[in-house]
Amino acid sequence: MKIIDAHNHPDWLGIDLPRFLKNMDEYGIDKTWLLGWECPRNEYHDGTPSVVAGPLLGVSTGPIPFARCVSYAERAPERFILGYAPDPRDEDACRKLCAAKEIYGAKICGEAKWRMMYNNPDCLRLFRTAGRLKMPVTMHFGYDLQFTYEDRRREWFGGTIDTLEDVLRSCPDTKFLGHAPGFWVHISDDELWKGCEYPENAPVIRDGRIAQLLRKYPNLFCDISAGSGLYALSRDPGHAKDFILEFQDRILYARDCFHNRHQDFINSLELPEAVLAKLYHGNAERLLEE
Ligand SMILES: [Zn+2]
Repeated sequence: MKIIDAHNHPDWLGIDLPRFLKNMDEYGIDKTWLLGWECPRNEYHDGTPSVVAGPLLGVSTGPIPFARCVSYAERAPERFILGYAPDPRDEDACRKLCAAKEIYGAKICGEAKWRMMYNNPDCLRLFRTAGRLKMPVTMHFGYDLQFTYEDRRREWFGGTIDTLEDVLRSCPDTKFLGHAPGFWVHISDDELWKGCEYPENAPVIRDGRIAQLLRKYPNLFCDISAGSGLYALSRDPGHAKDFILEFQDRILYARDCFHNRHQDFINSLELPEAVLAKLYHGNAERLLEE
């Protein structure tokens, strides 16, 4: 089966291009959506080269410069689809997004990962531009739980699940992919999100906010990458199977890392072949066609 990883990054977690390609081959991944991450240095805590390369390269636009995505795609054009999300506070953000599409063929607006509420006017303008350009937006959400030191600023991104709803309502012509702990914790209709980013082995209470939003807003899709997507599904495999079957047209296989646990879990659910084909490539392809 053809497989598209709908969320990964260049030079991410210390992995260079040759190792990235070897890793894709090892797990049968044909193509990867290669996303940048651009924001000021004070918006992310870990700038070491074993995580992101931006500071090592002296790049001021952010931890994962779009230039590195372009570099990968130029060296292995058949294997990568480019994503770029300029900092919406940049005066030229919308023009940069257009140029990334026109000059470099970027197809995704991502990764949106900034310490701001995503329903602010600058973000909405960029997201609407992405909609006009037919570029889906990959959004990282996180509550302020990541660091528990009382005297340190906490690492939140994007706002709350209500912020997401406001964005979906405000930009009906833009397609969005929900991603990261602040999104996936809402798979369950409980209050664990107030104190825990990655609830594990906690049975899901059905019809959480994600299911509610998927039913209400046709422009929402789910990116199952990273621990957040994996744990949200694997914490309750019975629920995961029903969730995937109900929203089989709205869920994309994605990693944001280099292990194979997402495939291992999906393949353990004994889903129909046609549903697997949507998860592994069909939904990703359809999102970029529309
Ligand atoms: Zn992310």
